[in-house]
Amino acid sequence: MPKFISPVNPFAGVQVGYEEADYVVLGFPYDLTSTYRLGSRNAPNAIREASLNIETYSPRTGLFLENLKIRDLGDLEVSTLEDPFQQLTAVFKDVFNAGKFAVTLGGEHTLTHSTVKALPENVMLLVFDAHLDMRDVYEGRSFSHTTHLRRLTEEIDPNRLLMVGVRAIAMEELESARKRGIRYITSPQILKHGFNWTVRRIEEHFKKASSVYISFDMDVLDPSYAPAASNPEPEGLNPTFTLNLLEVLASRIPEVVGLDLVEFSPAYDNGVTAVLGAKIVFEVLCLVEAAGCRR
Ligand code: MN
Ligand code: MN
Repeated sequence: MPKFISPVNPFAGVQVGYEEADYVVLGFPYDLTSTYRLGSRNAPNAIREASLNIETYSPRTGLFLENLKIRDLGDLEVSTLEDPFQQLTAVFKDVFNAGKFAVTLGGEHTLTHSTVKALPENVMLLVFDAHLDMRDVYEGRSFSHTTHLRRLTEEIDPNRLLMVGVRAIAMEELESARKRGIRYITSPQILKHGFNWTVRRIEEHFKKASSVYISFDMDVLDPSYAPAASNPEPEGLNPTFTLNLLEVLASRIPEVVGLDLVEFSPAYDNGVTAVLGAKIVFEVLCLVEAAGCRR
């Protein structure tokens, strides 16, 4: 097992032993390829702190998060590991094979490449993001938070992926996404056509899916709700709308196997992005618990 830094404040203040846990939280404080607003390495602890200062009641499920069996492993010690991405894949595989649901707190979005690599090929991917993250090379890097989904969809079947809330696309990304049949729904489409339309589009994509992994880039939300997204983009989604979408999906997809929450830079926060990040994790865990589809 790689080295973890124990959390001063475990997520939501609830801790059971690893063996007993149904849900495992781990931080991946890696932000070395970030652009614009740096410092997402501090997000796991900011989210943990916020998680201690909101009620654990889930209004959608009637559950209290504090009654779920959660283990916070702490943060992977990314600065001293030779290949933190490989280590993350190894840890994620262990957690997944133990039948547990893993929540990975970033850090930047590059971590999703490592968690998805740990999953079997039949797991579909639902990515919430304002961006496609599909540039070929950016600032001389072929693997960064702006290119990681290009690399991932070159390595896995791109039909596994659906992106929701997209609105910021580079010309080269648009061309390559079209050529490769990448599927995405934009936030202006969502806001124009509404909730039921969006549910239908997502369900269409996942109708044969037995299991889905969710990656949540905080910038999918409108900057008015998530002001400290690392690369904020106007015209984003509303958190209640987004959690209501997840509520419907969690009840209809046979199994949700994991979640990551990425691209939040606490230095730019007035406190509300951290609380919202914690709340999104609370609600997703309670929705998974209520649907009985936890691993
Ligand atoms: Mn992203
Ligand atoms: Mn993004």
